[in-house]
Amino acid sequence: MQDKAKQNTSCVESYLQSAIDFLGLDEERAFQLTMPEREVTVDLPLRMDDGRIANFRGYRVQHNSARGPCKGGLRYHPTVMLDEFRELASLMTWKCAVADIPFGGGKGGVDCEAAELSAGEKMRLTKTLAERLAPVIGEDTDIPAPDVGTGPQEMAWFAEALTRCKPGDNAWAMVTGKPVNLHGSKGRVQATGRGVANAARRLLEREDRPLSGATVAIQGFGTVGKHAALRLAEFGCRVIAVSDSQGALAAEKGIDIPAVIEAKDGGTPVAECDLGEPLGRDELIGIECDLLIPSALGGAIHTGNEENVRAKMIVEGANQPITCEAESKLTARGITIVPDIIGNAGGVICSYFEWVQNHQRHAWSESRVLDELDQRLDRAWDAVSCRARDANISLRTAAYSIAVNRVNQALELRGLT
Ligand code: NAD
Repeated sequence: MQDKAKQNTSCVESYLQSAIDFLGLDEERAFQLTMPEREVTVDLPLRMDDGRIANFRGYRVQHNSARGPCKGGLRYHPTVMLDEFRELASLMTWKCAVADIPFGGGKGGVDCEAAELSAGEKMRLTKTLAERLAPVIGEDTDIPAPDVGTGPQEMAWFAEALTRCKPGDNAWAMVTGKPVNLHGSKGRVQATGRGVANAARRLLEREDRPLSGATVAIQGFGTVGKHAALRLAEFGCRVIAVSDSQGALAAEKGIDIPAVIEAKDGGTPVAECDLGEPLGRDELIGIECDLLIPSALGGAIHTGNEENVRAKMIVEGANQPITCEAESKLTARGITIVPDIIGNAGGVICSYFEWVQNHQRHAWSESRVLDELDQRLDRAWDAVSCRARDANISLRTAAYSIAVNRVNQALELRGLT
């Protein structure tokens, strides 16, 4: 899947180009919207527990800050490279713009296998990364967040190192996704999955299909997948299949989602939960259902398996789970796709709330976070759905065209030409 994910990275540029064509922007502006503003590569020497010194590479790409500070994750993965971060930073610019939060796009990380590092090694690596990136990180410059291979603990270490590099500044507002009891936000854990479920509900409404009883298959049962499953089950949908990296589970009458979550939290893979029929992991893609929700990795649906898809609609929970080549074929088959920049925007919207709370030095209640999240998601959905219908374009081109127009306006108003 990783190779497919790499192949998939150039898709953002083609989606961006479709939006630029739709808006009729000139070539000079297209170039400016495509190029990252800044790319930083740092050397990260790390004293390993056995006394050796290993050297890693750290990266940060700031794609566009016309609408506000750059925002995006720090990924720890052995195959990460600058090209991939360029694409992902660009994706973040468009996601923040379509969600109408005052951020641009950034992304970065380290070329390491996080699972092979001890906690002490990860802490030293993360603090060195923070020190080396400190000149380009700031509450009004660039605000990292967790991504693949990192989580709240890494963000706590990163912020702690920044408090020392930037004494007197509000370092806790320079990173989001922190633990709730260390300046993090309530609601962040469920925000992305909640947003995926909200998008699925709005899509069903738009297609004039009943929410109650709608059948759903969810690939990936991590932070995004399980919270999407839980909320969709609360809406009355029938979640008939779920999968994780080891296998899949199916039940025509609907899976008991809280029971799978409990088993999974106890370390049992979904296929071994004894709550339905076990399936091969990749069979989930071919299940007949109303909604397919890929929430695992990028490039999960590609030209090699696209024809197996039998869902009527897809909501992208992961970033870029469908290659652009596969998307063209799915769309030609009449399958409606909600793009990632709308489908999983709940996460970055909640990160924005965390940043606001850090500025206010005040913690919001969970119900306030979730209410404001739902309102922002609804506004973004309404704008994208109307644009798609009025202009007779896909939801993806509609979402990108709204985002690109907002960034373009910010560039013009600021005289950044
Ligand atoms: P996670 O690590 O918590 O969960 C990933 C899940 O996918 C796990 O259950 C894993 O077992 C499963 N998985 C891995 N390979 C699989 C495969 N081949 N088939 C089926 N399942 C497989 O990750 P997450 O935070 O839920 O993120 C999922 C995706 O959503 C990632 O692409 C991430 O970049 C994207 N995303 C996450 C957030 C967020 O807030 N967590 C926000 C935006 C986008």
